[in-house]
Amino acid sequence: MTETVSEMAAPAADGVLRRPSLVGRTRAGLGDALAEIGVPEKERRMRVGQLWNWIYHYGVREFDAMTTIGKGLRAQLAERFSLDLPEVTAEQVSTDGTRKWLLRMPSTGPHDRGAEIECVYIPEVDRGTLCVSSQVGCTLTCTFCHTGTQRLVRNLKTEEIVAQLMVARERLGDFPNRKAPDGAFVPNDGGRFVSNIVFMGMGEPLYNFDGVRDAIDVISDDQGLSLGRRRITVSTSGVVPQIGPLGEEMGTMLAISLHAVRDDLRNELVPLNKKYPIKDLLEACRNYPGLSNAKRITFEYVMLKGVNDSDAEARELVRLLKGIPAKINLIPFNPWPGTRYECSDWDRIERFSEIVFRAGYASPVRTPRGRDILAACGQLKSETEKLSARARLMLEQDEAGATPAVAAE
Ligand code: SAH
Ligand code: SF4
Repeated sequence: MTETVSEMAAPAADGVLRRPSLVGRTRAGLGDALAEIGVPEKERRMRVGQLWNWIYHYGVREFDAMTTIGKGLRAQLAERFSLDLPEVTAEQVSTDGTRKWLLRMPSTGPHDRGAEIECVYIPEVDRGTLCVSSQVGCTLTCTFCHTGTQRLVRNLKTEEIVAQLMVARERLGDFPNRKAPDGAFVPNDGGRFVSNIVFMGMGEPLYNFDGVRDAIDVISDDQGLSLGRRRITVSTSGVVPQIGPLGEEMGTMLAISLHAVRDDLRNELVPLNKKYPIKDLLEACRNYPGLSNAKRITFEYVMLKGVNDSDAEARELVRLLKGIPAKINLIPFNPWPGTRYECSDWDRIERFSEIVFRAGYASPVRTPRGRDILAACGQLKSETEKLSARARLMLEQDEAGATPAVAAE
């Protein structure tokens, strides 16, 4: 995978030069921006703190609103940088209140129109969960997952990951002293609208380790977006060597996409299993730092009709997880155009869940949300693929030297 980071103003789809945005940057990234416009080093730390507060606590969209910063510096910042968020190119609202946003990321270079990714907001009675993407597409090819069929793949930058939460808070009116835009869902209990984040959108987060780690640092910082690490869940298809470092460096909750209890079947459903088989995966889980009854690993299991949904498999699932503080999440398969799988029948799911329940795991079936707008797990697949022919051509042209902004599988 290749990632091109351009610090210079880059042309957008419409050819207009855009100033780089400060939104989504780490403290170090904001420090670099200040250095670029000549702010002396001894002043930078204080200035970073001010910017941080305005950007992440208040969510301001203009430098002029940063009243603790002098006019001169505000003008200098505005000349060189912006506070732009990715463009929301589509917003869909499901009959159940789930919202899906299609975001166009700013262009990263002359050959990149700006990738499109999807993120989903799921309001529930006691929480609002934002499902974010870590990559454009995914290099892995799980056979039941729509994202896995997308051909263009690149890692999202830290800013692009953080921007998904910023967009959600903006669209939901979830910053102090701000009004929700027309038509936005407003919780009536006074709480933050986005209370939890799951990395269950597009992409394999552990293949974008640094980008995800830095984004989580920004998101969980208590001077800004303040979303605690216990409220952030990283879901992986099983990149075994990165599971320990995830616990040590990010300290978030962990979810494992298990989906099968035998290696032969898991090899087929989650091809990464050929590299990291079930035994190794569960060993890494057993060693996940900080596990306790209050901090359990979620095991996700997609219910595929006639494939992985027998009573014997339910019993084997329970046996395999013995000794690991675990939750089990049964996910009814969400179909997408062209898939060869079907969702298990409801009575089969109930039977499977009963076996799991009797072994001590509570209410494990995940209600599909936003199915009508193709927002449910595994249904995300952005239109970026439509660019593939053009992008491939550019890749060929670029082979001579320039770094491509997008990488094909
Ligand atoms: N790449 C990571 C995170 C994104 S996928 C991972 O695989 O864990 C988030 C969850 O949705 C995973 O458990 C994935 O297996 C599941 N999923 C993918 N396609 C699905 C589908 N069509 N129906 C239901 N769940 C699906
Ligand atoms: Fe990638 Fe996860 Fe989909 Fe597998 S399930 S293809 S790892 S996004």
